[in-house]
Amino acid sequence: MRVVFVGPPGAGKGTQSKLLVDYLAIPHLSTGELLREVIRSGTAVGRTVGPIMAEGKLVPDELVLGVFRERLGRGDCGEGCLLDGVPRTIRQAEAIDEIFAERGEAVDIAIELSVPDAELVRRLNGRGNEPESPRPDDRPEKIPLRLKVYQDQTKPLVDYYQKHGVLRKIDGIGTTEEVFGRIQGAIEAMRSQAGRVTR
Ligand code: AMP
Repeated sequence: MRVVFVGPPGAGKGTQSKLLVDYLAIPHLSTGELLREVIRSGTAVGRTVGPIMAEGKLVPDELVLGVFRERLGRGDCGEGCLLDGVPRTIRQAEAIDEIFAERGEAVDIAIELSVPDAELVRRLNGRGNEPESPRPDDRPEKIPLRLKVYQDQTKPLVDYYQKHGVLRKIDGIGTTEEVFGRIQGAIEAMRSQAGRVTR
């Protein structure tokens, strides 16, 4: 099963992704993590990407898609994968549909984790104020821009996946277990729908 997570920063995508990849026994593809690896590698690309990420802006589509394509090609995604933090633009969503189509695959479910803005700001402030917070984009002054980038560039994906008939909206308020229970319910409902690819 190929799962996409859509949701603003602070919605809990990272936490829920970890639980879901264990549950479905599929690899976790986080472009944020992959890009942080690129930065650690110290290459010229890493030096380009570092400041963009630190600002909380989006890395150019072609670069992200290159990283994504390379990761998908590693050979462990035959049974599916979970896409965490990608796509983040319509252009990325279309390209990812094409990349999957070349493999005879498709996105089976897009989960929108929905959390009100006030709660997102509260959660992100908590994260950014941790003394040893390792991520510059988690600093409180970056929060408004990251939420705006989500609204302007990523939120349109909700309509995109709705039109493709794969969107499931999940209330992201509650304990980790409560939210995960809702996600499991949506996954199982999708699996039991006739004619769906369930691998
Ligand atoms: P994340 O770990 O998903 O919160 O991503 C951290 C940062 O990496 C983002 O704020 C962007 O700067 C960059 N990034 C991660 N995934 C993407 C993507 N799909 N498209 C553009 N930029 C991305």
